[in-house]
Amino acid sequence: MPNLDLIDSFAPELTAIRRDLHAHPEVGFEEHRTSGIVAEKLAQWGVEVHRGVGGTGVIGLLKGKGGGNKRIGLRADMDALPMEEKTNLPWRSTIPGRFHGCGHDGHTTILLGTARYLAETRNFDGTAVFIFQPAEEGLGGARAMIADDLFQRFPCDEIYGLHNAPNLGPRQVKVFAGPGMAGADFFDITITGYGSHGAMPEKSKDPVVIAMTLGQALQTIVSRNVDPLQSAVLSITQIHSGSAYNVIPGEAKLAGTVRAFSDDVRKQIRERMRTLAAGIAAAFQVEITVDIRDIFTVLINHEEHSNAVAEVARTIVGDENVSTTPTPKMGSEDFADMLLAVPGAYFWLGHEGSVPLHNPGFVLDDEILPVGASLFSRIIETRMPTSA
Ligand SMILES: [Zn+2]
Ligand SMILES: [Zn+2]
Repeated sequence: MPNLDLIDSFAPELTAIRRDLHAHPEVGFEEHRTSGIVAEKLAQWGVEVHRGVGGTGVIGLLKGKGGGNKRIGLRADMDALPMEEKTNLPWRSTIPGRFHGCGHDGHTTILLGTARYLAETRNFDGTAVFIFQPAEEGLGGARAMIADDLFQRFPCDEIYGLHNAPNLGPRQVKVFAGPGMAGADFFDITITGYGSHGAMPEKSKDPVVIAMTLGQALQTIVSRNVDPLQSAVLSITQIHSGSAYNVIPGEAKLAGTVRAFSDDVRKQIRERMRTLAAGIAAAFQVEITVDIRDIFTVLINHEEHSNAVAEVARTIVGDENVSTTPTPKMGSEDFADMLLAVPGAYFWLGHEGSVPLHNPGFVLDDEILPVGASLFSRIIETRMPTSA
């Protein structure tokens, strides 16, 4: 099963774009160079460009043949991670502490390739809306674009997004309806006790002991309160307190993340966290503040659009490479917020390589670029067919 010929013909150029983006990674809302390159390429290919949507976001608008009114959005995220790259690739990051460790350089390039193909061929009836989103990695780029009236200014009837997947084989596509990625909260808990000499605990309200008690208590929420048939995670990922061997500190902080696929479960966990914190605060006569922030919405694919992606994928990568078996992930993805506003689907596209996403040694296989661009392009052509 083939990629689109025209896209294959400019695949080397896509590889060059991707490697240049890779060498110059920018973190969320700082994608100035990246969005500049995106805007320049789109304009060069005859796509109408709108910049500064939700910060560094870029929108490209392209009308196909015919006067159809349907509009389909395709979204790519552009941000890198604040981490060091540990590969020896010639195109490795040139910026310390910045790395495209999630392959968003590939996503951006795939959408650029799609725009170029569609601008040259225009074999569709309607408007393609290319959405280049900033700040996917926990910084709220999708919400920033939506708050900036993304879908009022650039309405979409359907929307699609993809993510590279080193855990799937080359050219393998995974798409399924229903919940696919978890909703996520980040939390910060501050215990304000009373410090004293390490030898005189009776003079203190020791926040370290209270933090350990609270940490243990929080672990009972998923194991003892959440329905065992629901999936949920509560991870305390940071504990900060103290600075000396002989000083009981006055304050301790816990931080972490909560994941679940149901908004009811998320609500239940938040309530239990606050109740346990309040109870432990009362028991130990200290103040405990709990700040829980909703960072990611549960990603829910729509059935019609998931089926449409699977249909298209079969023509590009072959039946044997398309899986529609539901395998939800506890990770999160802010395309979920766009799917709340507009029906659509998010899918995974496999590539060569075994190092996972967000690992300092992650490598994106450039072979994925023409495959992804072919999939996106055919989604536009099949969902907005020309009558001719
Ligand atoms: Zn990521
Ligand atoms: Zn990602």
